[in-house]
Amino acid sequence: MMEGMPPAAPMDPRVATVVDWFAREARDLPWRREDCTAWGVLVSEVMLQQTPVVRVEPVWREWMARWPTPADLAAASQADAVRAWGRLGYPRRAKRLWECAAALVDRHGGEVPPGEEALLALPGIGAYTAAAVRAFAFGERDVVLDTNVRRVIGRAWRAQPLPPAHLTRTEREHAAALVPADTTASVEWNAGSMELGALVCTARAPRCDECVIAADCAWLAAGSPGLDAAPRRTQAWHGTDRQVRGRIMALLRAAHAPLNITGQASLEDVEPGQLDSCLASLVADGLVTVADDRRGLYSL
Ligand code: SF4
Repeated sequence: MMEGMPPAAPMDPRVATVVDWFAREARDLPWRREDCTAWGVLVSEVMLQQTPVVRVEPVWREWMARWPTPADLAAASQADAVRAWGRLGYPRRAKRLWECAAALVDRHGGEVPPGEEALLALPGIGAYTAAAVRAFAFGERDVVLDTNVRRVIGRAWRAQPLPPAHLTRTEREHAAALVPADTTASVEWNAGSMELGALVCTARAPRCDECVIAADCAWLAAGSPGLDAAPRRTQAWHGTDRQVRGRIMALLRAAHAPLNITGQASLEDVEPGQLDSCLASLVADGLVTVADDRRGLYSL
């Protein structure tokens, strides 16, 4: 059990219903299978942080076939890892995963450790990923609190249309109190509430008529207030730095030799200042290398 986690009260009926629903309806995903290693779970959690399952699954399969252990990835180059990340987005995650593999080899004999402290000390592993790895790879009782779980709890228990922008202490304490005392049920609740949020209690168009806890949902009972008025947190995509960085990375992934990025016809619509700053940020993040400064050539 996570340090400081309170003992659970008797299981809330909504929690029990989600646990039962998950046992019946869980998607068959490769990282949920019994033969999946802790490394496979860790890779899936890093990939799933900002990317949906449908895009992650094929990349995860290729990744695990190529680098089935941390030692295999640590022996590859960072550029190979970034290239294999493909179009999952936020490629800093590939770099951090590669660094994490090296740290696992150096500190833990190439194994993923089960302890919270050891996990949190790894590159790119924050509180959420550490809790998810402990729960889903090692079957530990923990609080796994991603945006989907926060939304389900916020609506079903607190009648909130969307959770606050940042995780609050109240939310964390409430979520911890809901985790079932039984370890197996706790893992199923963590996975099931996440699945319910991803498939049914979605951010913009929750399918309450298909929801197993609709009869006890506080937000539905209150008349589903506030969703239209809630601010959208997503930024327009076209023209953002993230989009430009993604386009630069796509060009470099496809190239077999260093490229002059500022001379690429396909980037002519990008303001020179923005292109320069995006290139500089990719170099600063360690994702892109200056191959020839004088000729303006870059590579992964
Ligand atoms: S009833 Fe609707 S709002 Fe409530 S938990 Fe289910 S899907 Fe979400």
